[in-house]
Amino acid sequence: MENLIVQKYGGTSVANAERIMHVANIISNTCEKGKRVVVVVSAQGHTTDRLVEKARGISSDANRRELDMLLVTGEQQSAALMAMALQSMGHSAVSLNAAQVGIEATSVHGNAQIKRIQTKRLIEELEKGNIVIVAGFQGINRFGDMTTLGRGASDTTAVALAAVLEAELCEIYTDVDGIYTADPRIVPSAKKLDEISYDDMLELASSGAGVLHNRAVEMAKRYNVNLVLRSSMSGIPGTSIKEESKVERLAVSGLSIDRNVARISVTGLPDKPGVAHSIFNPLAKAKLNVDVILLSVGEGDNRDYCFTVHKQDLKTACEILEANKENIGYESLNSDENLAKLTIVGAGMANNSGVASAMFEALYECGVNIETICTSEIKITVLIGQQYITKAAKAVHDKFEPMFSKDYTETEET
Ligand code: ASP
Ligand code: MG
Repeated sequence: MENLIVQKYGGTSVANAERIMHVANIISNTCEKGKRVVVVVSAQGHTTDRLVEKARGISSDANRRELDMLLVTGEQQSAALMAMALQSMGHSAVSLNAAQVGIEATSVHGNAQIKRIQTKRLIEELEKGNIVIVAGFQGINRFGDMTTLGRGASDTTAVALAAVLEAELCEIYTDVDGIYTADPRIVPSAKKLDEISYDDMLELASSGAGVLHNRAVEMAKRYNVNLVLRSSMSGIPGTSIKEESKVERLAVSGLSIDRNVARISVTGLPDKPGVAHSIFNPLAKAKLNVDVILLSVGEGDNRDYCFTVHKQDLKTACEILEANKENIGYESLNSDENLAKLTIVGAGMANNSGVASAMFEALYECGVNIETICTSEIKITVLIGQQYITKAAKAVHDKFEPMFSKDYTETEET
């Protein structure tokens, strides 16, 4: 749809009445420029966490369907309040939940994926001259029940709407000025990026940078959505996320940290085809995501497997592996939760030698032991002791400081 902008406002941006009025002003200014606006909102402040706590107060193992019924109320509150704010300013606005829009998603409660979005109601409302406020983070499954799309997924709702409505721009308004080369709360010298490629952003988002939901980036890349992340408070331009060919290449575009990892080691396995499949197939069937996989030679002719999962999946993953012990044929199963993951990302890495060794040097200089290393064309990940993560992040960031600039070239031979 022509002249359409999708704007998403995160929890902090709509935390209270004052913030909501402030955001309503930004939306109003956008309308005054002749744009039609679809707004996606998150739950206010820490509402979602509070709702999760409330559920835990009743049961430590709450029914997933009911948990979703509870969680979706957070975004619906924000949507209704935002519509009221805009109406109080004289705008026509309407709030809609996922069922009213027709945001169809898979059935997995707590981690559903958007399958299809009906555009009929949205277009009707826009054509009536309404500003449409959509509750983020929710979908309806094929039984007509509410599902949620994973923590932080209001971003994904926004990008998905921008994709189906062919919006000219999707703006994610948050409480930071943009994407930084590292989390500025941990690395104070981190710099804001003006632009970043979808691929680099995807790696950062998937390896722990919480600033954008990773599926939102994936979807933006797939549908070529013009995506910008910016602050609702400062008015600074923000960071635009685009196709690689349109971005000036940096050797390293950023660094991310993930404290929510747990490592599982399965040791004493036979060295024959099918072993990896026997380990990872039951985990995949249970929809558990596995990261950083390492296969090494153990004692004798045996093989050892090491891999990471999200901390919240550790218990389930171990239970599944125990239940399949006989079929997999391992000797022992161990896990470690005191680790953190540090990742550096950059599409330009492929053309710059020495990036990995510079990272290892930085870690060596600050005395941090590397437990596991995993690399790809555009990222290097290490697992280190959880207690060292801040120190390590600063040291690695310092080491790459010169590479965070567009005109970085390797030292020329003299
Ligand atoms: N309110 C949900 C959460 O906290 C979704 C979101 O904010 O994106 O995860
Ligand atoms: Mg978020």
